[in-house]
Amino acid sequence: MALLKFPEALELNIFEVIAQASEELNLESYVIGGYVRDFLLKRGDAKDIDIVAVGSGIELAQKVASLLPHKPKVQVFKTYGTAMLRDGDTEIEFVGARKESYSEDSRNPTVENGSLEDDQNRRDFTINALALSLNKESFGNLLDPFNGIIDLEREIIRTPLDPDITYSDDPLRMMRAIRFASQLNFTIERKSLEAISANNQRIKIITNERIVDELHKIMLSDKPSTGFLLLEKTGLLQYILPELTALKGIEEKEGQKHKDNFYHTLEVVDNISENTEDLWLRWAALLHDIGKAPTKRFDKKVGWTFHGHEFVGSKMVFKLFKRLKMPLNEKMKFVQKMVLMSSRPIVIAEDFVTDSAVRRLIFDAGDYLEDLMTLCEADITTKNPKRYRRYHNNFKTVRQKIEEVEERDHVRNFQPPVSGEEIMETFNLKPSREIGIIKEAIKEAILEGEIPNEYDAAYAFMLEKGAELGLIA
Ligand code: ATP
Repeated sequence: MALLKFPEALELNIFEVIAQASEELNLESYVIGGYVRDFLLKRGDAKDIDIVAVGSGIELAQKVASLLPHKPKVQVFKTYGTAMLRDGDTEIEFVGARKESYSEDSRNPTVENGSLEDDQNRRDFTINALALSLNKESFGNLLDPFNGIIDLEREIIRTPLDPDITYSDDPLRMMRAIRFASQLNFTIERKSLEAISANNQRIKIITNERIVDELHKIMLSDKPSTGFLLLEKTGLLQYILPELTALKGIEEKEGQKHKDNFYHTLEVVDNISENTEDLWLRWAALLHDIGKAPTKRFDKKVGWTFHGHEFVGSKMVFKLFKRLKMPLNEKMKFVQKMVLMSSRPIVIAEDFVTDSAVRRLIFDAGDYLEDLMTLCEADITTKNPKRYRRYHNNFKTVRQKIEEVEERDHVRNFQPPVSGEEIMETFNLKPSREIGIIKEAIKEAILEGEIPNEYDAAYAFMLEKGAELGLIA
């Protein structure tokens, strides 16, 4: 079965070059793993290619580089016995076939040289163990000892060996199984799912960085709830994101219920994923309600409340990012800001939409206004069609108002029309509290719509305010 077809993105048929290099070195080589899987699934463009050599992967890489016209640089990772070179945008990684054995407390196995079969045995899933031959006689043939091709057709995630051992050996595979299920929309085989649940506490030996890599991939899948529901079902989520599992459940008191904020959150994440590919905006959707667990109260008069959950939630974002070793830079600040402001447009949409409320929203959200509106629209998960329509219409009104107000008042990225220096000069002041008071009063007057966002009006207002404070111009 000659399945191999070189990807159009590669100028030269790289596989033929690798085959030639293998022949010259008198060793066998195969394309293996994700490339073969995605190639058979006809999934996307050429991607990174993994080559396994029965012999030295490093030597093979060097030979391939010498045969390529552009003589790419070979990066050697001695500790791992691997080498990498680039061909255009594609990274090609070479590794010698290996046999692995694991110990209890580490996901890093001891490694010895092995056959192709040994190497396929160490792969995590049958669909990732597929290999295509790059050897002269069998070029393009599929080597599929675990019927991975059938699993591809049936859309099943299954481990080549005993799942209990596979997941216990390297618990990162639990995350990978769920990530692939979410990315490919595949089902995890029952035995595998049970093994993941049985081994869930082993996730503790995996570094946060690796866990987060997988979470990002789940988050970027078309329907992230698939992955998060599996993480929850297998008990992994409580170790990774306890803030989310804390949102689970519906409580009832005196006949009053609140919604299950965990399932609601997942709906919001799926909704927003239809409208944005932005990883961090999707994270904001996942975390937008985390403050609801610690702020939940029951009040006899008003029922369930979550007062201040946005503020509490935004503080929790910092702790969560820190714990998981996620970036604490502007990405985190963006997520915090989204969480903090996540109810603002809704509050406006519920009431009569006033210009000043819209001006404040534009001012506070700044460059994030579009993202915030996207989040809030995704937050509409009501099953009542009338209400659904009404909320969406309200948001349309808010969006229209935003446009009108923006065009007229220019308050996005607000710059005070009268500077602090001018205030000092006008009233002959040294740096002092009064300057701050006047500046703040001008800003407030503009946001409230008492004066337009223009120099002359602001100057006149400044004089008035100064006089009130007993200052002389
Ligand atoms: P993607 O590029 O979409 O993440 P991939 O399958 O190429 O998918 P990689 O992490 O690049 O994922 O891994 C390449 C191959 O290495 C996999 O297809 C699999 O055969 C093997 N592999 C990766 N991680 C593991 C693991 N933890 N246990 C066993 N095999 C693994």
